[in-house]
Amino acid sequence: MKPVQLGHMRVRKFEEDAGVTVPIPIGIFPGLTAERFKELQRDLDPRAFDAATETLPFSMHTYVLETRTKVILIDTCNGNDKLRTGVMAGSSMLNNKYLENLAALGLKPEDVDMVMCTHLHSDHVGWNTRLDNGRWVPTFPNARYLMSKTDVEAYKSLPPDHPQAALVSEAFKDSVLPVIAAGKADLIEHNHAVEREMDDNVWIEGAPGHTPGSYMLHAHCGHEHGLFCGDVFHHPIQIQDTTLHLGVDDNLEKAQAQRRRVVETYTDTATHLFAAHFPAPTAGRIVSRKGGGQRFQYHT
Ligand SMILES: [Zn+2]
Repeated sequence: MKPVQLGHMRVRKFEEDAGVTVPIPIGIFPGLTAERFKELQRDLDPRAFDAATETLPFSMHTYVLETRTKVILIDTCNGNDKLRTGVMAGSSMLNNKYLENLAALGLKPEDVDMVMCTHLHSDHVGWNTRLDNGRWVPTFPNARYLMSKTDVEAYKSLPPDHPQAALVSEAFKDSVLPVIAAGKADLIEHNHAVEREMDDNVWIEGAPGHTPGSYMLHAHCGHEHGLFCGDVFHHPIQIQDTTLHLGVDDNLEKAQAQRRRVVETYTDTATHLFAAHFPAPTAGRIVSRKGGGQRFQYHT
């Protein structure tokens, strides 16, 4: 992704790993039929669907939002050395060059002022902590970590058979609790203003559905507006059909309503959409498609 300038603010992205591809999405999106996919495929950018291999790429990355005074990271991927089981087993005991990739942007962990987790699923909190002599310590020693109070409340004692437990419980212990114990967490309510300085405006908007406390982050300066939407969408195909889902939404009806709301609000506007897993080049806009409906258009 080329850096995106939002007035005085700048948005960059770095990757945790090479991302993943999944086979043609019948079965990945429950209820999606081959016929319906064929229809949707016509409006998918080749970077979001590889017709030759019939795979959908997904990305695992962190955004860096730089305001005049702050370096803000948005969503911290899976993390290294973390034991994961069940549906998250694929991200167990990783050994990625995440901090090296951050360094390639000219940034050290000490430079980070704020870490935002749009929600507390394990692929959004992993690099909150790193292993240090057998203990989990905050990776970014000078940062405040902004986490949804609603998610923390909902997830601090999930029964093991709860559908969200596999996505949350292990990460809660090694990537959320140590940050709270270190006194570095700010448990925030929705509509929290992060930064209001001159004409830089950064604020949070609640988007419950994917998790009870999911939030989106707005960054606004001058005429430029960026929306960090977390997992309101996992893939550009969901902009074309907001009912599509990966079966991991805590409240499907609410999650679908959030997708619809974002599409209805931002179609054909100048708003830059920054989603947590859209494959490279990742950033883009929601535009109308000929013949009705909407699609995702990558920035060139
Ligand atoms: Zn995710």
